[in-house]
Amino acid sequence: MPPRFFWNAIWGKRTMGIEFTCPYCNRTMNVASQYAGQTGPCGQCGQAITIPGGEPKSPFGSTPAQEDIGENAGIRLLLPVGRSLWAFAAGYFGLFSVLFFPAPIALVLGIIAIIDIRRHPKRHGMGRAIFGLVMGAIFSVLRAILLVGAISG
Ligand SMILES: [Zn+2]
Repeated sequence: MPPRFFWNAIWGKRTMGIEFTCPYCNRTMNVASQYAGQTGPCGQCGQAITIPGGEPKSPFGSTPAQEDIGENAGIRLLLPVGRSLWAFAAGYFGLFSVLFFPAPIALVLGIIAIIDIRRHPKRHGMGRAIFGLVMGAIFSVLRAILLVGAISG
């Protein structure tokens, strides 16, 4: 259990505070939002209380409060939110380019995706777009070589 000065230190920082009331002595307190979710003794009555709030901290150390959903890296990992759909398509066709057939499609989709992302800087997926473009380009060339080889051979 942290000593009393734990709260005194917290009370010193009144910027961006969370206001809450101790359930034991009804004292209203204002603590820095960085302590949200932490438990410690009440400065008035000493009972163990937990500060409400407490959004899980972003692993990238950013402040998720002001960010829109497309900027939230955690959500972006799970859902294609805010990602260019062209990049999504280019990425998949790039993957399928290993099977040779959609390589030119991946190439075209990759180019469209990069243009699309340039026009909408908030969109993500540049990695996929470039992947689709590169894979599409490589396998388009390979396919052309194989075709030429098949015709001449
Ligand atoms: Zn209390």
